Amino acid sequence: MLPNSLVSKLEEIVGEKNISTDKYELLAYTITDRSYVSRIQLMGLNLKPEYMYDCVVWPQTTEQVSEIVKLANKYRVPIIPYGGGTNDMGGTVPLTGGIAVDLKRLDKIIEINERSARVHTQAGVILQILEWELNKHGLTTGHAPACMYDATIGGTLSTRSSGSLSNKYGKIPDMTLGLEVVLPTGEIVNIKPVPEGSTGPALKHLFLGAEGVFGIITSAVLRTFQLPEVRRFRSVLFKNLHNGIEAGRKIMQSGISPAAIRLSDEAETMKNHKMQGCYCVFCFEGPREIVDAEEKIVMKICQEEGAEDLGSEEGKRWWERKYYMYYSTPRSSVYPPEEGKIRFAIVPDTAASYDEIEPLYYDILNVVKKYGISVYSHFSHWYPHGTMVYPVIYFNVIDNIEEAMKIYTAVWNDIAAVILKYKTASLNHHHGVGFILGRYLDKEYGEPLFRIFKEIKKILDPNGIMNPGKLGL
Ligand SMILES: Cc1cc2nc3c(=O)[nH]c(=O)nc-3n(C[C@H](O)[C@H](O)[C@H](O)COP(=O)(O)OP(=O)(O)OC[C@H]3O[C@@H](n4cnc5c(N)ncnc54)[C@H](O)[C@@H]3O)c2cc1C
Repeated sequence: MLPNSLVSKLEEIVGEKNISTDKYELLAYTITDRSYVSRIQLMGLNLKPEYMYDCVVWPQTTEQVSEIVKLANKYRVPIIPYGGGTNDMGGTVPLTGGIAVDLKRLDKIIEINERSARVHTQAGVILQILEWELNKHGLTTGHAPACMYDATIGGTLSTRSSGSLSNKYGKIPDMTLGLEVVLPTGEIVNIKPVPEGSTGPALKHLFLGAEGVFGIITSAVLRTFQLPEVRRFRSVLFKNLHNGIEAGRKIMQSGISPAAIRLSDEAETMKNHKMQGCYCVFCFEGPREIVDAEEKIVMKICQEEGAEDLGSEEGKRWWERKYYMYYSTPRSSVYPPEEGKIRFAIVPDTAASYDEIEPLYYDILNVVKKYGISVYSHFSHWYPHGTMVYPVIYFNVIDNIEEAMKIYTAVWNDIAAVILKYKTASLNHHHGVGFILGRYLDKEYGEPLFRIFKEIKKILDPNGIMNPGKLGL
């Protein structure tokens, strides 16, 4: 419970309509749709009060955000920045209670600068709304993650998100030119939207992926691109996964970047397409001449890897339905399939270099096999030096919360241990670490880097109020 005097002062800052201490509202904010562990833990813990927000506020200006942060420092109350609440790693779970600062009323698109190909937007703007607005000007950010109907610019920046077209347009950090951030002390800083610079380390990266532990992003300047003249699809079937990965590697190292390459493993190919082998869909977009050339080069490489051409229709269908799997089922993967039973899924997406990605993938399958769980994987987000694997692990229906928690924790521990064994594998590729994977960040960084990381946190956030317990801090 927050002191009444703090609630009154918050009300003075944001106005009485922009604050709530209603317990159902707080519960809705606490149990995010996709923070699997939080829901399981909440169920297991019978909604213990320490896992609940004490208050939610909806500021409308950067200055209000700054005032809220200053006040929270005075009262030593935790603050959790809140965007769409779509994160997968428990980033918005209030581990020690506190104030949810929901940024969604910072919802202005401040400037679209067509000549310099950039857009300045407040952090609470929903990705799809920004995209619709840019499309009216013949522009796009090129950022198309499956969460774009729910996630905000600020949340996406804070998790180093990646969209379906990342091969061509990059991840969100690649798209970010400038930032406005309210530091954990309440000071407001601006990182200029320079095209590029050589002025010491690019400090924007301190906040990109910081999941709210180093401050609150209130606005950002992002790159924009012309809407493509042509968007085209092509699908192929590889005999096995190795051929598919080899084709992807050769394509990305040939000097072209098809906007999307989505390669399914054998299990996913059988489940989704009822075929043996590994299904792969390509998306090409841009000026017609470039698309023609890219498609030709890709098909030549696929042929060399023994792939069967499946034409363009399947690819079009994938594009039209690519968000169905996320939005057509109950939003959370943690839901009781029948009374008293628990079912859930986890997605330990990771990226590694081409010499390590296959052994890493098979190691993950071996972990999963040990627990008798189903897993379907795809490879998307390709780079010249490596790729990402996205295993979706479905847990069988489990009868009780203790059993669910035990298996859940054991699988994460085993998978994290496997990933950490590889020199080029990243603990996570685009979902962030929150507190689920934050527990292993000391091992990901190693010493003395993790100690330095903690020192940076102490300097920026001397009272430790910003999103405590996340990123291993
Ligand atoms: C259906 C679905 C599909 C998804 N598909 C993808 C996908 O294709 N690609 C992908 O990358 N991810 C995907 N995700 C994961 C998720 O959507 C991302 O992590 C997203 O980037 C989070 O944005 P958000 O606005 O919901 O942030 P939140 O979940 O609200 O917050 C995420 C983290 O950032 C912090 N935060 C939020 N806003 C700010 C801010 N303004 N300043 C500082 N910190 C802040 C929070 O405290 C939290 O730690 C998907 C999730 C769902 C539910």
